Amino acid sequence: MKAVYAEPALENSDLRSGKAVTYSRSITLVLTHDCPWHCGYCGFRTDGEGLVSEEKIVRVVEEGRAGGAREVLMISGERPGAMSHIQEELGRRGYGDFWKFAAAVADRCGEAGLFPHGNFGRMREEELRDLRPHFVSMGMMLESVEDEIRLAPEKKVAGRIAGIEAAGRAKVPFTSGILVGWGESQDSRLRSLRALAELQEKYGHLQEILIQRYVPNEGSRWPAGVAPTLEEYIEMMSCWRDWAPEVAIQIPPNLEPRWLEMVGDLDDLGGISWAKDEVNPTRPWAELERYREGCARAGRELVERLPVYDSHATAEWLDPIWQKRVGHFISGEER
Ligand code: SF4
Repeated sequence: MKAVYAEPALENSDLRSGKAVTYSRSITLVLTHDCPWHCGYCGFRTDGEGLVSEEKIVRVVEEGRAGGAREVLMISGERPGAMSHIQEELGRRGYGDFWKFAAAVADRCGEAGLFPHGNFGRMREEELRDLRPHFVSMGMMLESVEDEIRLAPEKKVAGRIAGIEAAGRAKVPFTSGILVGWGESQDSRLRSLRALAELQEKYGHLQEILIQRYVPNEGSRWPAGVAPTLEEYIEMMSCWRDWAPEVAIQIPPNLEPRWLEMVGDLDDLGGISWAKDEVNPTRPWAELERYREGCARAGRELVERLPVYDSHATAEWLDPIWQKRVGHFISGEER
């Protein structure tokens, strides 16, 4: 596969030489758990919760600031604005649609000093273009290249790929990845990664990919499958290095207890928070210092990053309103 960039970004060449493992100090703000879909593995979705309240937004922003978060991870069910009760509530609260609500909440977070990263399921290109100035990055998991109707009846691979492509055309710095440990084969994992690498070759917008271990939560109707062996993890990472070496590999350490055995190969630990993991509430993170010590024992330094990577903190990828603030962080003025 052709390299997307003529030269690898400086940040990534540093990672390859084994100096740094990155993480993002984050807090999560759930705009709504309501979702019209019914994935069997999901412990997140609700049916009639409605939108996050004004009081909760204020509380989470204050908690994020007090706890030293840089990233606010804003999430929801899949396209919640398609549901009639959400539309009614948006109207009552003065928002034309869900995207305007998400943009307004992101702006409040930004004004409070946080950097918003959004993940609201599949979005159309024009929706992504409209939200782009309000977020420094966005994301959506591919999960797998195989349609699995037992697990996710409404979730279709073609739709996920179309959503990731739309983000590429809209020039949104993007996070995606695959879900492992739900019953899939190694061949399927590699084909899923290959599909992401092909999207990266076409658009160059992926800044990181997750290899995310599936963990059943309360409400999940699907048991855990066999997790990848360490050798299978190493094979996935090695293939990814061949296919898209400029894109970081993230393994969330609260979901994969063997992360330390792979710390020499991975690039990033993802969002780490003192607050609840809203998607996997049964798997809280350890103290940041524990991760720092684990990396150090493996000869690697744990370094904070923003939700937008240095490689995408350029005029091509980032709205001008964010470039200055992100630049201050990269130069160390805002750390
Ligand atoms: S995994 Fe996402 S799309 Fe599926 S039911 Fe849960 S919230 Fe909805």
